[in-house]
Amino acid sequence: MAWRVANSLLTLRDQFNAKFPGRNKASDGTIGDPSHQGTDSDHNPWYGGIVTAIDITHDPAHGVDIDRITDELQASRDPRIKYVIANGLIMDTRPQFNPWQWVRYTGDNPHTSHFHLSVVASPLCDDPRPWNLPILGGASTQPPTRPPTKPRFPLPEGHYFGLITGPNESHGGAPESMGGIPNEQYYVRLIQEELQRLGFAPNYPGWADGIFEQPTADAVSAWQRAYRPNSTSRWGEVWWDDWADLIRP
Ligand SMILES: [Zn+2]
Repeated sequence: MAWRVANSLLTLRDQFNAKFPGRNKASDGTIGDPSHQGTDSDHNPWYGGIVTAIDITHDPAHGVDIDRITDELQASRDPRIKYVIANGLIMDTRPQFNPWQWVRYTGDNPHTSHFHLSVVASPLCDDPRPWNLPILGGASTQPPTRPPTKPRFPLPEGHYFGLITGPNESHGGAPESMGGIPNEQYYVRLIQEELQRLGFAPNYPGWADGIFEQPTADAVSAWQRAYRPNSTSRWGEVWWDDWADLIRP
């Protein structure tokens, strides 16, 4: 069957390619792979043979930070957006779903290696005008609504940041080949740097190494005792609610 990608999404992809020529595209996608077919994914051609969804790879080292981008999509209120998924959260614009609000995404894939954008199934999806996002150089008259963002909690339900020697649910900076999530050391380092900044960890260079071992667990426990004495989380582990208090809601 003949199919094509909605023009608005081709424009967005061209904007990213032009702005970040060296970006990683490993998790990019438009048309659904075999695992999507037979589902009602927007990656399948359905609206007059048009694919209305795109995935763009998370590559913060080259500037493609899906937290920042998806926040900017939210702030843009672009009428072409149907919904956006990134880092365990979904923002749906349709009136039956908390429109334009981020809520927990409960699908299988938490979308930590790319963000997903679906556009509306209407002629608007082919509107080829550039997307007005600050990260792409748009909205120059309109400064970002807040300083550069830190990521939201990137782990699936039931997982936490903890000892690298812990069970599979404990994420401590392991590489992807060892069962880690993409950029796992980066997330552990954010925790370590925040503990340093708050005075719960030694402040020498190199302490924040992206590997979660006992000294990091001890620093987390000390922070929890000070800031979250009634926490239901386990001591020395950084769960969703700890992350919300320590790094970012
Ligand atoms: Zn997708």
